[in-house]
Amino acid sequence: MPQQPIRLQLGDVLRLRRDHPCGNFDFEVVRLGADIGLRCVRCNRRILLARSLLERRLERFVSREQDAPLDLSEFGGSAPAGELLAGEQPTDAAPAGETPRPEA
Ligand SMILES: [Zn+2]
Repeated sequence: MPQQPIRLQLGDVLRLRRDHPCGNFDFEVVRLGADIGLRCVRCNRRILLARSLLERRLERFVSREQDAPLDLSEFGGSAPAGELLAGEQPTDAAPAGETPRPEA
């Protein structure tokens, strides 16, 4: 199990292992803190989950907000490519709208 806390941002949409009573699995992050506030994207109801519990239930990221530069190499080009991205998100779950820039 990874020791590092998952980096969450407001607006991130998460796929959880357990569904909401309405049958939906996707939740948007609406509050950050010791407890993470999530909004069900189908019925708009809000829930609070302890971060540790959320990390255990998290299956994958559905989409992430792009306002914070998570990968410095993409902007400065000084960091080794690949290293920073390795732990950020599962490679098989890359959003379709996001095309990685050429490394060169
Ligand atoms: Zn719901």
